[in-house]
Order: sequence, then C-alpha cells, then structure tokens
Amino acid sequence: MGITLFTLGGTISMAGHQPGSPVVSRLTGAQLTAAVPGLAALGTPLTVEDVHAVPSGSLTFTHLLDLLAAASRAVRAGARGVVVSQGTDTLEETSYLADLLWPHEEPLVFTGAMRNPTLAGPDGPANLLAAALTAAAPAARGLGALVVLNDEVHAARWARKAHSTRTGAFVSPDTGPLGHVVEGGVRLFVRPPRQPVLRVDPAAVARTRVALHTVTLDDDPDVLTAVATGQDGLVVAGFGVGHVPAWFAEPLGDLAARMPVVLASRTGSGPVLHRTYGAPGSETDLRHRGLIGAGYLSPYRARVLLRLLLAGGADRDSVAAAFGRHGGDGS
Ligand code: ASP
Repeated sequence: MGITLFTLGGTISMAGHQPGSPVVSRLTGAQLTAAVPGLAALGTPLTVEDVHAVPSGSLTFTHLLDLLAAASRAVRAGARGVVVSQGTDTLEETSYLADLLWPHEEPLVFTGAMRNPTLAGPDGPANLLAAALTAAAPAARGLGALVVLNDEVHAARWARKAHSTRTGAFVSPDTGPLGHVVEGGVRLFVRPPRQPVLRVDPAAVARTRVALHTVTLDDDPDVLTAVATGQDGLVVAGFGVGHVPAWFAEPLGDLAARMPVVLASRTGSGPVLHRTYGAPGSETDLRHRGLIGAGYLSPYRARVLLRLLLAGGADRDSVAAAFGRHGGDGS
C-alpha cells in the first residue's frame, strides 16, 4: 500500500551538463527522491517509475493516456496514491485531462517545480514531499486529480499556472485552493463534487483535432478560418465574458454549423456569460449562432474536454450538455 511516483521531466528534474550551463530534463526519479529531506518519514514505501524525461511542452495526449494506464495498473496492484512529477508549463492541461479520466478513489497528485535543482532554493524537493503526503492522505481520497505546489492543494479542475517564474505560480482564481500541507499534515477545507469520468479510446483521441484561437484587438477572420481548417472542433478564447469582434460573428456561426465551437474567456478567470450583452459578437449573439459556452473552464481546459468528447463520438448536443456539467456555471 505504498505510493507510486511517475516522472515526466520538467524543471523539477533539470540539471546542466556543466556548472552554469542551461538545464535540461535529465535527473531520474531516484535522484529526485534522494534529494527530499523527510520523505523517509512518509511512513509508506515509494516506488519510482521514470516515464519520459522531456519538457512538459513536448508531452502529448498519448503520453498522458499511457501514463494514466500505468497509474491505474499501480493502483490495481495496491498503490494507495500516485504522484506525477512533470514540467509546470502544461501541468494545468495534463492534470485536467487526468481528472476527467481518473476513475479511482486513490489520489492522483501532479507536481513540479519553478526553480530547478541548480538554483538557490529549488522548490522541487518540498513540492515532491507535499505531493507524496497528499497522495498518502486519506482526506485526499475521492477528489480525482490534484495539483500540489508551494504547500497548496488545488483541484486539477481549477488550478492555473499564473506566473512564469514564481514558486507560487499555481492558483485557483475562481475557487482558491482546497487546502494546504502544514507540518507534514494535509488539511483540506473543501471537497468539490466530482463529475462522472469520461471513457476514451486512445487511438480516437490521437486522431481527433481541436484548435484554439484567441481573439485579439482588430483580429483577422482569415486567421480564424485557417486555424479551423481540418479540425473536428474549435475553442475560441473571446474577450471578457465571451465577446469577439462583430466581423467574427458570421464566420464563427458558419463554423458552428460544421463543427462544435466552444466559447471561452481569454481573461483567465470567471465565466462566459449567457444573456447580458446583445451586440453582434456578444455572448448572446454567439450562443444564438450555435456556439457552446465553456462556463468557468479556461480555453486550455475547454480544448482538452472538447477533444476527449469528440474522440468519444459526442455530437453537438452532447458536447453542450457536457460543457454545462463541467463548466461549473450551472447551465
Ligand atoms: N519548461 C519547463 C517544463 O514545463 C518548465 C517547468 O517545468 O516548470 O518542462
């Protein structure tokens, strides 16, 4: 009944080939855990599996589905919890993907580091210890995938990387963290309800294509059309509560007639609205044209959810219903 740690590279495992040279992912899980004071006091054995030593920007959905299969095997073999260490750059997407698919009660905890092991004050060892404590904690059971950095426990559904360098980069802007790791104890104050997990065929996920377009001031609709070409679905990160330039409304409506188009907000927190604004390109107009609101899901999360849904064969109505459930805005 131990913990299994899967390592996927990232800053937490990076070192230079010479002192002072740029760092790359190359430390093994055994080297990482050897650098963690207090891990022995965890009171439970830790098994390490090195999976891919890559920067997290080079991870794919297929890597993640393989990892989840391996993590499921570890749990079925008796692991009481799983830790995944990886780069922080894509951690909000990978952990959300995992949360949508993780069917077990055992905690699945993602962690990483903002300061690599060659710097003064690397945060990897503390994050690894906090993640392992969380994976072993009875209180963390049944919460799906969690994100643990900086002694904070976040729901993978809501955590975001909101700073490029600080150790406190991960926040849950709409909800706050679920709890904290303090004096070796995991204190959780909130238990959000889980959604039923999705089931997917990895081969179908690999061939399903979903694009993301972020609208910008004086945006060019030709770029939108080019981005959507050959895709099975599209996420649009709109301004504010879900707005686009007026001249995007018609092309977006045309696209929504051909594929599911999900409307998210590019702001980083807060929901897409339903019925407050009425100008061309507003949320009300776009919903009338067939776009599906992402609720509180960030554009990055919306893209993960849409790709998994479409890989599972969901039609537009099922996609809309799923975003209603997962978007968290009660629609
Ligand atoms: N570029 C790194 C990665 O995501 C950054 C990190 O680990 O924080 O792999």
